[in-house]
Amino acid sequence: MGDKDQYTMQDPTRQYPALDIPEQTQREPGLDANLQPKADHGETTYRGTGRLQGRKAVITGADSGIGRAVAIAYAREGADVVITYLPSEETDAKDAMRIMKEAGHNVYGLAGDLTSEDFCKELISFGADKMGSIDILVNNAGKQVYVPNIEDLSTDQLVSTFTVNIFAMFWLSKEVLAHMPPGGTIINTASIQAYQPSPGLLDYASTKAAIVNFTHGLGKQLAPRGIRVNAVAPGPIWTPLQPSHGQPQEKLVQFGQNTPMGRPGQPAECAPAYVFLASQESSYTTGEVIGVTGGQHLP
Ligand code: NAD
Ligand code: MG
Repeated sequence: MGDKDQYTMQDPTRQYPALDIPEQTQREPGLDANLQPKADHGETTYRGTGRLQGRKAVITGADSGIGRAVAIAYAREGADVVITYLPSEETDAKDAMRIMKEAGHNVYGLAGDLTSEDFCKELISFGADKMGSIDILVNNAGKQVYVPNIEDLSTDQLVSTFTVNIFAMFWLSKEVLAHMPPGGTIINTASIQAYQPSPGLLDYASTKAAIVNFTHGLGKQLAPRGIRVNAVAPGPIWTPLQPSHGQPQEKLVQFGQNTPMGRPGQPAECAPAYVFLASQESSYTTGEVIGVTGGQHLP
């Protein structure tokens, strides 16, 4: 790594190494604890400056990866945060919450499966009960499983990818409005895959395109109510999603090398976009998508 913070001016191509990624496979969902090499979630590189002081946030899938980096950043910016994770991710979740708590604000965790509409409702009630309101909803949880040929794409996988990536986002966005005051924001997680789909990610990439479209439409619908809706579209970011069948091995070992930056991104490099979209600094930005793509760019 280069200088170990996100504030010192430096060459971004050298800020993080073009990772030497060994072959590895994990069961889905992958655990950050088993990821090699380790990712940067901002543990030692993100410094908060009170940009979300007193805000109340719910972030799905924040035990690991991009969600963990967003959760650490929000806690350090002064927010109370609820994170969700799957029961099998308890160790990652505990680790993420331990780091978040060091910032001195309230941190809550709720384990459950977002493919259940009842769990989505429970999550929003839990967040509202614990924190009094929900000012920020980050729809981050996602499922990505690589299948080279459409003939081999099972209906189970198709349904489950669409349920995690799209249905849960609809359910949570619908439920949260009762607890979200004007000034509140919903932030969705799209992907470069929405615009440049990989041939082996047909179901995943389709959901990401739908997330972009939903963001544009809901942004227009809720603007008159003073609620903003935006998305972040990451490029290749080093997280446990990738070695848990997100990529074939031959692509995994060169992950992110084909970007103009010549390296994969780190979760910590996505977090500032989510902070900007959650804070009042982005007051005139809604229905938009911010790319964090290492130069692959959105259209
Ligand atoms: P990750 O595996 O660390 O995070 C994904 C999380 O989704 C998991 O931690 C898990 O808690 C949650 N999840 C999955 N299925 C769930 C279910 N049924 N119920 C509840 N939670 C569930 O990986 P990540 O890469 O940080 O992914 C976060 C988001 O970023 C995803 O939406 C992903 O599509 C998106 N994204 C990732 C990349 C990348 O290169 N890593 C690129 C673009 C977009
Ligand atoms: Mg995880």
